[in-house]
Amino acid sequence: MNIIAELRHDFPVLSQSIEGQPLIYLDSGATSQKPQCVIDEINDFYSKNNSNVHRGLHSLSENATSKYEYVRTQLAKFLSVNSKEVVWTSGATESLNIIASGVTCDLNSQDIILISALEHHANIVPWQQAAQESGAKIAIMPINKQGILDIPAAIAMIEDLKPKVMACTHASNTLGNINPIAKLIDAAKKVNAITVIDGAQAFLHLRPNLSQLDCDFYVGSAHKALGPTGLGFLYGKFDKLNALSVFKTGGEMIDKVTYESSSYREAPAKFEPGTPNISGVLGFGAAINYLNKLDPIVLHQYEQTLYSYCLNQLQAIDGIIIYGDTQNNIGTISFNYRDEHHYDIAMLLNSYGIALRSGHHCTQPLIAELGIQGTLRVSLAFYNSHNDIDTFITALKSSIKLIAG
Ligand code: PMP
Repeated sequence: MNIIAELRHDFPVLSQSIEGQPLIYLDSGATSQKPQCVIDEINDFYSKNNSNVHRGLHSLSENATSKYEYVRTQLAKFLSVNSKEVVWTSGATESLNIIASGVTCDLNSQDIILISALEHHANIVPWQQAAQESGAKIAIMPINKQGILDIPAAIAMIEDLKPKVMACTHASNTLGNINPIAKLIDAAKKVNAITVIDGAQAFLHLRPNLSQLDCDFYVGSAHKALGPTGLGFLYGKFDKLNALSVFKTGGEMIDKVTYESSSYREAPAKFEPGTPNISGVLGFGAAINYLNKLDPIVLHQYEQTLYSYCLNQLQAIDGIIIYGDTQNNIGTISFNYRDEHHYDIAMLLNSYGIALRSGHHCTQPLIAELGIQGTLRVSLAFYNSHNDIDTFITALKSSIKLIAG
């Protein structure tokens, strides 16, 4: 555990003060903090190696290209897939848009797109667009009162509706629930559905093995996994990936262009037109390197210990209502205090240096199903400490006292 406590010092942001108080960062679900090695890598690129990739024959460009492509192999290894199945995107949002728009031409008015009630807007709105354009219908895998996915009902829906697409989040950004996606993928494969998993929240905490999961598509965002913003990935089984229609067009993704028409290259180039986020990719490479040096089991155990520590103390406060699955969770706690507005408590907590998120967390349908306006959300990562939680709980108790008078 002491080794983990040391890791905190790798994250320079964490050593500052907010409102005169030491920063307590409990918002890793929104974006993770970045270790110094990631910041250094980006700085190095611009100060020593800046050049475009896949274009120049000069050494600087060749160097940038080989580093850029090396990170693709690093990520592929991390996910246990082949590197030609990994596309760089601007984030999980863009990845989901590429998939939804890429399958739209194969959908018709008889088809069902099945998503869960726990989805982030990024895994709802692109499907609504696909449904509008194709005439397909969207159906929702339900949750129970606590906000946990009803797996028997979800599997029955997959078997009965035989959806063309089954899209589900690996872990809920609002509640932290880890969904048993292997079961959903297995059931969906039996009815030949295209399986799409949103791994934006799961990537850092669960280190998914995609060759085991065997889904068709899996997406994530670098910034939620110690990397920079503006970068994400789209994994797709090679044949499924190539079968998607193109999303954006331009340079580099083409095979041959005449004034009349163009032909496209195979994945991943097919989905990477224009100059990519080179510094972002290199920074993410440093993040993956950093993660590869840490034992995932030790990290996971530590995060779970922190989670239980925080959960127990929250549960002990009279009037706190906690939502979601507290048994299978990535370390994210959504809660309210009686019927007080989440916004007021979040503002007070900020004055104690506590950074957490409040609101609907880009899951308005889920929040509506829970019958609330929003929640306060603590989302933990391995660089948090027990002291962070003690400080947060003390500040929360003081905030409640102020609010409740
Ligand atoms: N899915 C989930 C579950 C998320 O938490 C997020 C980000 N909050 C996204 C998708 C979208 O990620 P990004 O904003 O990085 O594209």
